[in-house]
Amino acid sequence: HWSRICARLKAEVGEVEYNTWLRQMGVGPVDEDEITLYLPTRFLRDWVRGQYGDRLGALWHAEIPAIRRVELQVARSASPAVDGDAPSADSAPAATAAAPVVEAVAVEEPRAAEVRSDLAAPLDPRFTFDTFVVGKPNEFAYACARRVAERPSSPGFNPLFLYGGVGLGKTHLMHAIGSELVREGRVSVAYMSAEKFMYRFIAAIRSQSTMEFKEQLRSVDVLMIDDLQFLIGKDNTQEEFFHTFNALVDAGRQIVVSADKSPSDLSGLEDRLRTRLGCGMVADIHATTFELRISILEAKAAASGVEVPAKVLEFLAHKITSNVRELEGALNRLIAHANLFGRPVTLEATQDVLHDILKANNRRVTIEEIQRKVAEHWNIRLTDMSSARRSTVVARPRQVAMYLSKQLTSRSLPEIGRKFGNRDHTTVIYAVRRVMELMEQDPAFAEDVELLRRMLES
Ligand code: ADP
Ligand code: MG
Repeated sequence: HWSRICARLKAEVGEVEYNTWLRQMGVGPVDEDEITLYLPTRFLRDWVRGQYGDRLGALWHAEIPAIRRVELQVARSASPAVDGDAPSADSAPAATAAAPVVEAVAVEEPRAAEVRSDLAAPLDPRFTFDTFVVGKPNEFAYACARRVAERPSSPGFNPLFLYGGVGLGKTHLMHAIGSELVREGRVSVAYMSAEKFMYRFIAAIRSQSTMEFKEQLRSVDVLMIDDLQFLIGKDNTQEEFFHTFNALVDAGRQIVVSADKSPSDLSGLEDRLRTRLGCGMVADIHATTFELRISILEAKAAASGVEVPAKVLEFLAHKITSNVRELEGALNRLIAHANLFGRPVTLEATQDVLHDILKANNRRVTIEEIQRKVAEHWNIRLTDMSSARRSTVVARPRQVAMYLSKQLTSRSLPEIGRKFGNRDHTTVIYAVRRVMELMEQDPAFAEDVELLRRMLES
């Protein structure tokens, strides 16, 4: 079946694409209506899921009608990768190990609740403290996470409550805590999303095994529940979590919880639960700063082995400010593209490859903005954009700002001139021509202007 499916895929997507994305895919076991496929990296897994997930499901279903779902896992070999340091699978509860990340691609309707023998979700081996880039916005949360990984259940740090917006590193830090503890081999760790917690709980009720579920949960040393906000409005599950929480904390076990808001802002969670959640250490992860975004991009670019010029990193850090996930996604796409076509990463290529992402982040640019950005770039005073000073130090940036105003706004030449200290429109024409000449003569200057243009471009 496998080789037939591979041949079909290759025929459909072409040799190049197949070799780039799909060749390294391995086939795993079939479990009832589900087949597991392996990919060597998280990035490939995500990519293949996004691009080919549905198609893979359909092909497998056509080949073996009983198969309705395809699971994509991160693993290096065609057999499930189980971390050697992990507690053995037969020690109940099966503690999480640095095993592959399992996420399902639903071909048809996802099954609502599934009973699985393992208690918790596996940890992503890529989310470690080493790969977490620390900066002002996340240093406190990072320090707390490290502290809990070193000495779980310390007074004052139990529970550890991590909160912050989407894509800022909450899950990464929780996995890092788990991996660190598992690596040390000291304790059993269970990590799962609040959603999974609920499904497990419901499944246990259905199969009349709630006692077993409770016992399993209460026998771990560290319980981590991700995205607790999911439990808002799920009263029964909240209740169950509250009891589990109390039982564990009373028994001196560590709890780590994440959510998108602070305990006091999680209205919709029961008061007594919110109170208890706020009792230990509450650490928030703030939105990224430009500096942190640069550091993260540098680290990820270095790890990829693809050379990404500093200008490109700077450009991305300016443009994609929403969260780390998007930033990472943009960089990954660039890197994939560079690998795929064997071309160096340049600003032009970036603009091309990330066209859609950048467009979504764009807005109309004004002459004032252009003047401000250009003045900042060359470190001159904003007032010099309209001053009479003629020394090259200020005249050149002023000309660039005029050139960019012509390029990026729909203002007429006289209008632009007026904004630059009531200069004549012929001055603007001269500036535009002069900048174009200089760009031809001096590649470094051209690159500066291009960078500014791309940053401002609407
Ligand atoms: P959250 O759970 O807060 O929504 P994640 O932990 O899933 O966010 O982070 C989203 C992505 O960004 C992940 O791939 C993660 O590795 C990466 N990431 C977030 N913060 C950092 C950081 N400080 N250093 C390195 N990678 C980060
Ligand atoms: Mg998360």
